[in-house]
Amino acid sequence: MARIISGTAISGTLRAEIAARAEALRAEGTVPGLAVILVGGDPASTVYVRRKEEACEAVGIEGRTLRLPESINRDELFGVIDGLNADPTVHGILVQLPLPDGLPYKAVLERIHPAKDVDGFHPLNVGRAFIADSRGFVPATPAGIMELLKREQIPTHGRHVVIVGRSLIVSKPLASLLMAPGPNATVTLTHRHTVDLASHTRMADILIVAVGKPGLITADMVKPGATVIDVGVNRIDDEGTGGTRIVGDVDFDAVSEVASAITPVPGGVGPMTITMLLRNTVDAAERSARRRASMQGKPSTTQ
Ligand code: NAD
Repeated sequence: MARIISGTAISGTLRAEIAARAEALRAEGTVPGLAVILVGGDPASTVYVRRKEEACEAVGIEGRTLRLPESINRDELFGVIDGLNADPTVHGILVQLPLPDGLPYKAVLERIHPAKDVDGFHPLNVGRAFIADSRGFVPATPAGIMELLKREQIPTHGRHVVIVGRSLIVSKPLASLLMAPGPNATVTLTHRHTVDLASHTRMADILIVAVGKPGLITADMVKPGATVIDVGVNRIDDEGTGGTRIVGDVDFDAVSEVASAITPVPGGVGPMTITMLLRNTVDAAERSARRRASMQGKPSTTQ
């Protein structure tokens, strides 16, 4: 029976570390600040943004949500972002996706100053993650998965990691992080056009699935003893209650019999994502404090 990797528990430890760093910054006179831009009233986005606000408050980050009307145009939105870029009390800026139709999300993401782009979606930060340049910001979900593997002491060196999915926000940055010097994994990236997916997944020492299809990964697709990381979030009908429930992409019960370790959904990758956003925000605030201290010629005590 597989060991359950609890993202909830690991997040708790990490959030305590983040709160201590935020406290140290506050003691030096820097209140870490995150600005979240929400355009329109998409219900799922509204819930995510509220969760981010609550998480910020719990670790001592000043979370500020700018709720903008769906009718806002590109230039008005650029104006809001420019204002936040110039605001020294804001260290991290994120635009909640998806944006309403008609707003060019790529141009919007590029408008955020790279030093405040705590989501890591600006092309400069995408490139920095690719070349393992630690000055950038890594998107929260892949950063959270790397942290889960590290804290659970799951070795990656020389191991074969198979990732299912090729998205820009999860799978591609994760592949670069895993293959970089340090983790040193051998990485296979698969996607919807991969022929005979199971022949790849069965070779994985670590199988990471980020697709959005419940039940995609069955027990016969998993090598005995593998570690399985399920990123998928799917709402399905719950026959027991007549309501709905959240499941991942992996047939959890059957795969638990084969794998040596597995993340549950919910409670696995999900809690790590917001936690890593908080960490990126504190990183951004520390970097800003260091820049300010070096301009004033005095040392900063936060590292
Ligand atoms: P996406 O939705 O952009 O793309 C899905 C990927 O799955 C594509 O690359 C596609 O090629 C691949 N795919 C589709 N069908 C496939 C099949 N039959 N076989 C193999 N590959 C197939 O990807 P995303 O944004 O990374 O999201 C993936 C899932 O992860 C979604 O369920 C999303 O909700 C979830 N997610 C969770 C978190 C979290 O914090 N837990 C964060 C981001 C995404």
